[in-house]
Order: sequence, then structure tokens, then C-alpha cells
Amino acid sequence: MSYCDIAPGHPFHGPYHDRQYGFPIADDDALFERLVLEINQAGLSWLTILKKREAFRKAFRDFDIDRVSRMKPDRLLRDPGIIRNRLKINAAIENARRIKAMPISFAAWLDAHHPRSKDEWVKLFRQTFVFTGGEITGSFLMSIGYVPGAHEEWCPVYRKIARLRPRWMR
Ligand SMILES: [Zn+2]
Repeated sequence: MSYCDIAPGHPFHGPYHDRQYGFPIADDDALFERLVLEINQAGLSWLTILKKREAFRKAFRDFDIDRVSRMKPDRLLRDPGIIRNRLKINAAIENARRIKAMPISFAAWLDAHHPRSKDEWVKLFRQTFVFTGGEITGSFLMSIGYVPGAHEEWCPVYRKIARLRPRWMR
């Protein structure tokens, strides 16, 4: 069973599948949110993450990269709404700093490196970020449409995304 089979109609998976998963994202804070959520999913279910999403947004101030880059991990570690894992929280803060240090926006940086193979992306992410192994990098890139495979070809969302995607991504 694929995500396209199980997600539609589900209270948490449904809206994510229908309107967000695999859709291109142009906003840097929204891209950063997705990266942080994928990192936090490691070892847990995506449903757990979706259920905590509002608490994550609150704790991380709507994933404002600038604000997160200046956060101290202690307040976040005390927040029962999010995943209280020091490595994951440190990774969010450190990755915000690394995005901030980029000479161009995160979105422009992704575009500048697109397209490349999954292995090349993983290598680049390992060099650029922390807590971004093969699985997390692959999931993140699939979830923002940079590598294919988010939706089955028979899924109505597949066609919807194909129409939305900028020409260079087709
Ligand atoms: Zn689908």
C-alpha cells in the first residue's frame, strides 16, 4: 500500500497528501520547516509528526530561520508538544544557521543544484547540513518535488503537481 492509498480521507494524512506532499515550495521558512519535520521523523512515524505540527510551529516560531538560528535548545527541550530530542533540536538550530550563512536563499540554493542524482544530493546535504543522512535527505527532496516518487501516477495529485511545477523541473 502506498501513501496515495492510505492517506486520502485520513484526518492528518489526508490534507498533507492532497495539498502539501510533493508540492513545490518557494518560501525559505516553509522549506526549513519541512527539513526540520523530516529530521524529527527519524525513528518515528510521520503521523506522530503531523499531529505535533502545530506545536512545532509554535515552539519554532513559525520556522522563522533567523529566529531559530538564535534559539537556545533548553526551552525547546522542555516543550512537551514537540520531540524532545537534543540531537534533533540542535540540528534544527544548526541547520537554520547554515541556511542563514548561504549567500542566496535556501530556495535559490536548491534550484541552483537541481537536477542531480539522489546520491549527489545526499553527498551535498551531508556537506551542507547536520543530521541529513540518505533517508532524511531523500524524504525531504521527495516531499518538495525535487526527486520523483511522492505520488503514484494514478493519484489525482500527481497530475496536479505536474501542472504546478516550474518548467525546468518537468
Ligand atoms: Zn498521492
